[in-house]
Amino acid sequence: MTTPTKTEMIAEGKAKKIYATTDPTKLIFHFKDDATAFNAQKKGTIESKGMLNQRISARLFTMLKAKGIDNHYVATLSDREMLVERLEIIPVETILRNLITGSCGKRLARPEGEEIPHPIIEFSYKSDALGDPLINDDHAIAFGWATAAELAEIRKQTYAVNNFLKAFMAERGILLVDFKLEFGRTPEGRVLLADEICPDTCRFWDAATKKKLDKDRFRQDLGEVSEAYVEIDRRTAM
Ligand code: C5P
Repeated sequence: MTTPTKTEMIAEGKAKKIYATTDPTKLIFHFKDDATAFNAQKKGTIESKGMLNQRISARLFTMLKAKGIDNHYVATLSDREMLVERLEIIPVETILRNLITGSCGKRLARPEGEEIPHPIIEFSYKSDALGDPLINDDHAIAFGWATAAELAEIRKQTYAVNNFLKAFMAERGILLVDFKLEFGRTPEGRVLLADEICPDTCRFWDAATKKKLDKDRFRQDLGEVSEAYVEIDRRTAM
């Protein structure tokens, strides 16, 4: 098979440009260094982030596939470019929390890093205009964003990702605090893991020191931002 090449840009998000390709079943993701937080109220760039996020995502998607958790990743084309399956994106973002921090801690006034007996899954409606509001299954079904069967499949795959990734990171001295996943539908209607899995979309804490090694360093102006991404790249390559 000849490798598909970029045709027109079909979308530009906060962290990626998305291109159609010469193969109608594939897209190319171009990972940017741009960073935004708090629904794009805070903007900046993180040196080499695009390259590091492409590499970390590609590595994790490849390992997930090997563990039987299929996903949209096809190949890495260059430092910043990834070939992926073209999907119909389900406009529901899935967050899994192993420890409490971020918007959940704030919303419910829970202490930072609170341990919980079982992971929490939250859904939000993927809408920049609305700031990705929290929703539940009933909203997603009522508004036609996903079916009950798709939501059940999303939950199943999200727990499977957590089981693998939590253990994988723990072996490398990292706590998987929480993460966000996106899913899409294949032309056959199968629910497939999509988007990216990297320090922009996950919270990683050093297990020994609890140092944040993710985008919270940018969100909270903690300094050593790109260093954190480099550290996650280094440890996940072990
Ligand atoms: O901010 P919040 O606590 O809800 O974030 C939960 C998880 O989802 C974090 O790992 C964060 O990086 C990720 N997230 C994301 N994109 C968003 C919001 C949150 O990747 N738009």
